[in-house]
Amino acid sequence: MTKTAPKIGLVSLGCPKALVDSERIVTHLRAEGYEFSRDYAGADVVLVNTCGFLDSARQESLDAIGEALAENGKVIVTGCLGAEGDLVREHHPDVLAVTGPQQYEAVIDAVHRARPPAHDPYLDLVPPQGVKLTPRHYAYLKISEGCNHRCSFCIIPRMRGDLASRPAGEVLREAERLVKAGVKELLVISQDTSAYGVDLRHAESDWRGRPVRAHLTDLAAALGELGAWVRLHYVYPYPHVDQLMPLMAEGQVLPYLDIPFQHASPTVLKAMRRPADQEKVLARIAAWRAAVPDLTIRSTFIVGFPGETEADFAFLLDWLEEAQLDRVGCFKFEPVEGAAANDLPDPVPEAVKQERWDRFMATQQRISEARLARQVGRTIEVIVDEVDEDGIVARSRMDAPEIDGCVFLDRPASRGMPAIAPGDLVRAVIDEASEYDLYGTLADAGETRLRKPAAGRAVPRRRAQ
Ligand code: SF4
Repeated sequence: MTKTAPKIGLVSLGCPKALVDSERIVTHLRAEGYEFSRDYAGADVVLVNTCGFLDSARQESLDAIGEALAENGKVIVTGCLGAEGDLVREHHPDVLAVTGPQQYEAVIDAVHRARPPAHDPYLDLVPPQGVKLTPRHYAYLKISEGCNHRCSFCIIPRMRGDLASRPAGEVLREAERLVKAGVKELLVISQDTSAYGVDLRHAESDWRGRPVRAHLTDLAAALGELGAWVRLHYVYPYPHVDQLMPLMAEGQVLPYLDIPFQHASPTVLKAMRRPADQEKVLARIAAWRAAVPDLTIRSTFIVGFPGETEADFAFLLDWLEEAQLDRVGCFKFEPVEGAAANDLPDPVPEAVKQERWDRFMATQQRISEARLARQVGRTIEVIVDEVDEDGIVARSRMDAPEIDGCVFLDRPASRGMPAIAPGDLVRAVIDEASEYDLYGTLADAGETRLRKPAAGRAVPRRRAQ
């Protein structure tokens, strides 16, 4: 007789790295026969994977735990905020267990204690690629945990420890399984992707019967053999990033670099405890673009860091004008409990932070709009994310999911057009651009694969400006 499978509710908060942790936990529990409930009421126990990076994220995590307790009552906490068990228990004494980030075994043990697994061979099946929480056609690939830097605004090294890289063979086998299961885009993530393998002294490991070094260049080249889009996130501009340019020029990895610059003023970078040679970085960017003209550079910045003067901020805006980055996110500095930056003098008043943020965003919007306008009239390859009767939402090589823009395409009027589904790679003619998004129509419809359109939510045809 088949026993009823225990059901888990999952609330996953935070960054893609936390999402990957959730996926590992889900994969493990699914392999043991657990099922997952979409609502609190249907769950035997609720797992909350928390974020503890910013104070606002910590509050969101505490609120999510409170909601899960109120709605279900049986709650296990994990993730970054889980590293601070006392804080969690102080706010929510009734949680069943609190475990920190990457403590997979402790989370699984806590779930076993709350609701033991029902052993049933039919429930123990798990897809070979694991269970992804992202849409089926793209997946995050975590290549390392932790970080060897000690940026003064960040507590990640304290919560996640020093850099710990996965052997190249292990990463490549996971990537291979994902691609075999239908993943078309691999999003390489870590805290510091350029430092990959430093802790392993770049040791070789076996993949497809040959040695591959645990080094970003070698890993990227090997990932490029899998035939999926390979997008690199959290890359720091170490010298060996130059070696990625030939791979991008030859199409082995996407011409896209996500580099968190955070600031440009040497004084602010020093206070942030980050490398401070932004002049050299400008020269590197120019050289990269000369080698790979279509290179997209994405970055994030913090304004209003303690001690940031108007001169520092003006330096940042000038640098931004010079760098002409394609995609940029900007945060107003927020103290994070336990971060060294909290002890720095000269905090920037909130009104000044806001004013600088507004000026920063206005500058970048203008740059971004001008750079995107260069795509108008071009025919580019895009990956389809959503389809409905109004149109198609896709992304170009310039757009990472969730954080960058979209390419909105009109649905073809012709009855003879093949059906398009999420994950298809199609060519699009771009006829319009805004600050963040592109608009156009399908090209070469005859070359696209025939598939049944997927049912999905309504597609916004034009994004609100
Ligand atoms: S590089 Fe700096 S900001 Fe990024 S995780 Fe490491 S310490 Fe934190």
